[in-house]
Amino acid sequence: MAKGSLVARRIDIYDNVKPPLCTSCGKPLNPSSKAVSFYCPNCGVFLIWRCEKCRTQGSTYKCPNCGFEGP
Ligand SMILES: [Zn+2]
Ligand SMILES: [Zn+2]
Repeated sequence: MAKGSLVARRIDIYDNVKPPLCTSCGKPLNPSSKAVSFYCPNCGVFLIWRCEKCRTQGSTYKCPNCGFEGP
């Protein structure tokens, strides 16, 4: 009867890790994906993350600190 209690909620585990968010699309990055991170080339303060999809699509990002937009 109590089959449901065996189902682990993976999203809870994922929350604890606090994955970084892609600066372009805002989605949490999978640790196993080929995401890249670099500091904003304009202000050098904000750490920008880009997921593999946004890299291949050439999506633009916008720095929340200085408003710089780049490819
Ligand atoms: Zn993205
Ligand atoms: Zn910046």
